[in-house]
Amino acid sequence: MPAKLLDGKAASAKVRTQVAKEVRALQAHGISPSLAVVLVGDNPASQVYVRNKEKDCEEVGIRSVGCRLSTDTTQEELLTVVDRLNRDPMVHGILVQLPLPKQIDERAVIAAINPAKDVDAFHPSNVGRIMLDDYDFLPCTPAGIMELLADAGISPAGKECVIIGRSNIVGKPMAMLLLHANGTVTIAHSKTPNLAEVTARADILVSAVGRAGFVTADMVKPGAVVIDVGMNRLESGKLAGDVDFAAVAEKASYITPVPGGVGPMTRAMLLKNTVKAAALRPTNA
Ligand code: NAP
Repeated sequence: MPAKLLDGKAASAKVRTQVAKEVRALQAHGISPSLAVVLVGDNPASQVYVRNKEKDCEEVGIRSVGCRLSTDTTQEELLTVVDRLNRDPMVHGILVQLPLPKQIDERAVIAAINPAKDVDAFHPSNVGRIMLDDYDFLPCTPAGIMELLADAGISPAGKECVIIGRSNIVGKPMAMLLLHANGTVTIAHSKTPNLAEVTARADILVSAVGRAGFVTADMVKPGAVVIDVGMNRLESGKLAGDVDFAAVAEKASYITPVPGGVGPMTRAMLLKNTVKAAALRPTNA
C-alpha cells in the first residue's frame, strides 16, 4: 500500500495561522514583531530564500527589515551591522543568511548575534540550550520536522530513529530533538559503513544528505516514516529530495514530498521563532 503524504504545505498553513493570531495579539499591546534579514552578496539561491522569508513575514504581519550588503563587505562591517541590530529595540529577530562570502568568518558572525534575537538558533549558547532541553528557540528545519510528525500523530517515543547527515543545522539538532522525544537515535554520515543496514532499522528515517535519489527502497524498512530534507536542483531545473520517492512511497507508511514537505515547515518555524522572540522580550535592547 502506498505511503500517506506528510503534507508540509497544510501543516505549515496551520502554524502560520497561529503565528498571525499571536502577531495580532502582540500588536494589540503595541508590540510590532520584527525580523531583520541580513543578506551579504548576490548568491542567487540566497536572494530567493531571503525574498521568501520577507514575503512570509509580510503575510503573517511580521515587520521585516531588509539589510542588503555588497559581496565585498568586510567582517568588521558586518559585525557593526549585527551590533546595531542587536541594540535596536525595534528588532526582535536577526537572521544572517548563510553562506557568507569567503572573507567573512561565519562562526564569528553567528556568535556576535544576541542569543535572544537568534531566531535561527545557531548561536553557541542556543545550541547548548537545545542539548539541555531548555531552550527558547529551535533551529527551523528540525523543529519543522517535529511539528510535521506531531501534526500527523506520529510519536518518536520508543522508535528507532536514523538520521543521515550530521550538519549543525539539520542532522545534529534533529538527533537531539528525537532523543528528547524518547526516540532511540542513530546519526549516520559519509563514514558510516553498511549504511543500508543501518537505515533499514529505522522506524523514522530522516535524510539530510543533499544528493538526489540517495535513499533507495532497499534502504527502507517496510512501514517506516520517511522524512526527506534534501533539496537538490536537477539538471532539468526541477527540485528533488534525497529519496527515490516513487519506489520508497510503495514501502513506507508516511513520506514527505519534495517540494511541499520539510521546506514549508522550515519557513513557518522562522515565523514562530520571531513571534516568540517578540513575546519574550518585547522591547529587547
Ligand atoms: P551538509 O552540511 O552538506 O551535510 C550533508 C551530510 O550528508 C553530511 O553530514 C555528510 O556526511 C552526509 N553525507 C554525504 N554523503 C553521504 C554518504 N554517501 N553517505 C552518508 N552520508 C553522507 O548538508 P545540510 O546543510 O545538512 O543539508 C542537507 C540537505 O538538506 C541539502 O540538500 C540541503 O539543501 C537540504 N536542506 C533543506 C532544508 C529544508 O528546509 N528543506 C533545510 C536545510 C537543508 P559527512 O559529515 O561525513 O561529510
